[in-house]
Amino acid sequence: MRTLVTGGAGFLGSHLCERLVRDGHEVICLDNFFSGKRANVAHLRGHPNFEIVLHDIVNPILLEVDRIYHLACPASPVHYQYNPVKTIKTSVMGTINMLGLAKRVKARILLTSTSEVYGDPQEHPQTESYWGHVNPIGVRSCYDEGKRVAECLMMDYHRQNNVDIRIVRIFNTYGPRMAINDGRVVSNFCVAALRGENLEIYGDGKQTRSFAYVDDLIEGLLRMMETPDLTGPVNIGNPDEFTILELASLAIELAHSSSKLKYMPARPDDPVRRRPDISMARKYLNWEPATPLRKGLSSTMEAFRHELGGEDPGH
Ligand code: NAD
Ligand code: UDP
Repeated sequence: MRTLVTGGAGFLGSHLCERLVRDGHEVICLDNFFSGKRANVAHLRGHPNFEIVLHDIVNPILLEVDRIYHLACPASPVHYQYNPVKTIKTSVMGTINMLGLAKRVKARILLTSTSEVYGDPQEHPQTESYWGHVNPIGVRSCYDEGKRVAECLMMDYHRQNNVDIRIVRIFNTYGPRMAINDGRVVSNFCVAALRGENLEIYGDGKQTRSFAYVDDLIEGLLRMMETPDLTGPVNIGNPDEFTILELASLAIELAHSSSKLKYMPARPDDPVRRRPDISMARKYLNWEPATPLRKGLSSTMEAFRHELGGEDPGH
């Protein structure tokens, strides 16, 4: 099976490439290295089944593949707000290009959409049938609306051109290889706790998120890709819900740190609550997360500790 992974050098993409190579697939990792890096897949280079292609998906590309995991898109607010016009181009033009490729070579294509399509949700927990509550003109819309258009394109290529599609909506996922400067809450808290710096809480810290460990998430993606006759969207995430304050104290505890909390202004349009309803994933994919936050966060903390190397822990 020849498999293309767009965004393959990013956090999730690199774990997916690793798993696919391990499972015997021929993998093409395509990336423009905006938020991903070669080091994430350095250990796979030289493997006979693995290839890296430097390419920006806003431009078309012709490859012969059977499966396309379409991940390319910056996912952290810091990265996707850096050049918002480019972010929406990546979601819209990039997804058109990947769907065009899937159509030409009759490949099955899976889009990694996001819980952000639910915006600041008024339904809790979020089911796939909920249409969302997204601000169309806010600072998060380049990402949220970009993904909503990407989902629309997937469905239209499916209805109009019979393209074989899969849509998953990923909820906050964490694990080793998140970039230190990625700006997402788990990496920020782990790095700050290990360095003994303040953990910055945006707003009152009572907002919630539900955190899935990367290995669980990758298993969900693989199952979705290989389940027949299921276009989705299907939520993939961990339904255990935590406040940001709870996450902060767990990070401080696991890092054995003396870091303190520092309250900062809330981010605009920051969703107040987020938690997936994963009944569909349970029913159709026979999937559910296996890693509790404490366990996954310890492994993640260890990976950051290793990466930060000789830096003084903040005891
Ligand atoms: P990431 O930023 O680490 O990875 C994205 C990758 O895409 C990077 O390697 C980046 O260089 C590449 N990329 C960006 N724009 C590109 C372009 N125009 N052409 C080619 N490559 C490009 O983020 P991630 O956390 O690994 O997320 C991967 C996917 O999963 C994204 O589509 C994201 O929207 C989705 N997702 C992730 C989460 C999460 O919690 N990690 C949650 C919901 C959805
Ligand atoms: N957050 C925080 N401190 C940080 C980074 C994030 O308090 O250093 C909060 C942020 O305001 C949000 C939650 O943590 O409420 C998750 O933020 P993240 O950027 O990880 O993801 P997203 O908002 O896209 O779910």
